Amino acid sequence: MTESPLPFALPDLGEAEIEAVTDAIRSGWVSSGPQVKAFEDEFAALCGDGVTAVTVNSATAGLHLALEAIGIGPGDEVLVPTWTFTATAEVVRYLGAEPVLVDVDPRTFNIDLGAAAAAVTPRTRAIMPVHFAGLPVSPSALRDFAVTHGVRVVEDAAHALPAAAEGEMVGSGASDATVFSFYATKTITTGEGGMVVSRNAEVTDRIKVMRLHGISRDAFDRYRSSVPSWQYEVIAPGYKYNLTDPAAAMGRVQLARAREMRDRRAAIAARYDEAFADTDLQLPDHGPEGTLHAWHLYVVRVPQGDDRDGFIRAMSERGIGTSVHFIPLHKHPYWRDRGALTDDQFPQASAEFERVVSLPVFSSMTDAQVERVVEAVTALRSA
Ligand SMILES: *Cc1c(COP(=O)(O)O)cnc(C)c1O
Repeated sequence: MTESPLPFALPDLGEAEIEAVTDAIRSGWVSSGPQVKAFEDEFAALCGDGVTAVTVNSATAGLHLALEAIGIGPGDEVLVPTWTFTATAEVVRYLGAEPVLVDVDPRTFNIDLGAAAAAVTPRTRAIMPVHFAGLPVSPSALRDFAVTHGVRVVEDAAHALPAAAEGEMVGSGASDATVFSFYATKTITTGEGGMVVSRNAEVTDRIKVMRLHGISRDAFDRYRSSVPSWQYEVIAPGYKYNLTDPAAAMGRVQLARAREMRDRRAAIAARYDEAFADTDLQLPDHGPEGTLHAWHLYVVRVPQGDDRDGFIRAMSERGIGTSVHFIPLHKHPYWRDRGALTDDQFPQASAEFERVVSLPVFSSMTDAQVERVVEAVTALRSA
């Protein structure tokens, strides 16, 4: 009785997405056009009045453009949690600035604002919090930090759609920019894609220019307005970071399903919480009362000193995919060698890294698949 392998993550795409993409192709607009515009408008409406949303072809591109738009450059330092994907830090290097890695709160894996305060220098210009797994960093604590230290805020919200804390949805706030990812395994997907949102028109205007070659008006506007379609001005050496219409068409369907897909993930997380209560695993933090957790990831921890890798192997032998989020940046050769970084400088991240395992939690999981994970984990981890 061999069961087919259960992957760690799969996109949740159905006939509606296939139809929307097909329609977009049939329309003849296969680069950035009306679907991109509609996706941006719908996303902005979800974030609230006064928010502008700008599509990009990845969150990495969006983070790069956001930092560029707030003027990050050589000699600047940007605070980045060590507990993240390398994209968060690499974009700082694109601009010739230095990411300064910061340890995390061991309860949430989110940036430790106390450690961040200790890392501030006269060169510190910005902080890039990551809402790890979809659990938001406190927006009020973030604002206090920015005001106290006089730094800008670019939120890496790659895991955080939809998510909210203290009554504020991630993406609705006063940060300079918040960046979402629509990579294949993220909470909504366009295959590859991302969105930058902000209330600061200076930031979003600059990003609109820089995402398409530094051209002062994007292709869609040119085709709509009275200005001759051949006319444009290059005002900076920009990038090629625009999203396509077929991708945006997929994104619009996914966006409309974002809450329903999140609720399915939350139900899976609740089932895991209940089923694993009597195991030796430490279960994920839910945040304070009133938190809307996106449940992009469900991360359990084996006891300190236990064989985490053995647990991953045993799950794999049962045909269940797992992962590890994240290998802290200070453990990767490039970041470690560049900053001469050691584990002692990041005691929390270094210790927790040895213990973490991410279990499958994607919205298209069937109840039977969820129970398969439950059975395997309880068999392996119960006393
Ligand atoms: C996935 C991810 C990114 C990068 O997103 P892309 O859309 O693939 O560029 C950035 N930060 C974090 C925390 C991520 O998980």
